[in-house]
Formats: sequence, structure tokens, C-alpha cells
Amino acid sequence: MDDTRRAVLNRLDAVDEMADHADPAKVLPIARAELRHLAEGWRRLLNAHRADPTGRCETCRRGSRARRWPCQVWRAAHEQLVGEGVPDRRRTYPLRGNPFTRLSAR
Ligand SMILES: [Zn+2]
Repeated sequence: MDDTRRAVLNRLDAVDEMADHADPAKVLPIARAELRHLAEGWRRLLNAHRADPTGRCETCRRGSRARRWPCQVWRAAHEQLVGEGVPDRRRTYPLRGNPFTRLSAR
């Protein structure tokens, strides 16, 4: 498990390094591939943290305290991808269906 953690953190460091120092002419194709990886990674992570029929996160509910959806993972995603906290006006029903497909694929 420690190897997994180290490999992931090293990869994130490499992405940071590329963003800060890579030759702009060479970085575009790499950045495109990395953006696809990041988007797919977020989709997989968020899919694992979707709401169950009772409005609780399917993954985080396994802990001692059942968490109402959106859980910490979705809150972090909203902050990172949308750029702000989860809106105060919260959804009163769980998201159903498959919101994880690419918009262009719908
Ligand atoms: Zn969760």
C-alpha cells in the first residue's frame, strides 16, 4: 500500500513540475492526456461516492457515522472543479441515473 501511495504522490509531483517548468511547445499534448486522466479519475472517484436511495453516500456510509450526501469527496470535487463550496440550497433528493458520463456522449 505504501508503494501505491508513493507512486500516486510522485505522479502528482511530476504533473506539478511539468506545469511549472515544461517547455510550452512540448507540454500541450502531455497536458491534454493528463486532463483526460484527471477527468476520468474524478468520474471514477465520484461514481464510488454517489448517493444511495436514502440520500447517503454509498462509500462513506460504511463508517461509524452515516454521512448525508454530498459527502466530503463530492464537496472537495465541487470546490476543486467548480471553484467554490457546495451551494447552500441543497438538493433534497439524491442524484440518480448516471451523471458520470461525458456530456458529449449524451
Ligand atoms: Zn463519500
